[in-house]
Amino acid sequence: MELSELLNKTDYEWYEELFKELSPTILKSINVQEVIEKSVISAEKVYKMLQLENSETNLTAVIESYGVTVVHVDELISSPNIALYDDSEKKLVIFTSTVKRLHQLILKKGMGELIDEKQFKQLILSHELYHIIEMNEADIYTYSKILKRKRFGFLKKTEQLPVASEVGAYHFSKILNQLQFSPRVIEVLPILA
Ligand SMILES: [Zn+2]
Repeated sequence: MELSELLNKTDYEWYEELFKELSPTILKSINVQEVIEKSVISAEKVYKMLQLENSETNLTAVIESYGVTVVHVDELISSPNIALYDDSEKKLVIFTSTVKRLHQLILKKGMGELIDEKQFKQLILSHELYHIIEMNEADIYTYSKILKRKRFGFLKKTEQLPVASEVGAYHFSKILNQLQFSPRVIEVLPILA
């Protein structure tokens, strides 16, 4: 696949793919289109609620206002993760070597004009900020129990749907950073030939 194809893919196409990738088994038990639409609305609501001027300092300040500590780890062995948020520990770990590696890939693939290093770091922080907010504020759709499963024909079990959280976080980071393409593009760069 060419980079231009990735850049031109719609948000909806990316989010639908995310469902297939992360939760292939639940596709039949939910209305994917509806969940995507509601997750996007949820990201827009959080964006409006925050009225945040986008900068690394501001993003870090909002993250810290939720009692979360931001820790930068420079792993020698590169981690597959860019960032990890642990809600029980109230800790957000940013893997700086992965961030650097991905940013170099952005330059190598000729996307340097579309997103610079500063914006890339803000993109990562805003994705994580969304997760922190959905877990710590009441009634955020993407963190509610979306999935209703029938058990033994009658018992109903409701569960959270992690893929909805991801759609919310990708969408929030996209609109906050005014990206013209989906943040998912950067994540698939390593597998782009
Ligand atoms: Zn995420």
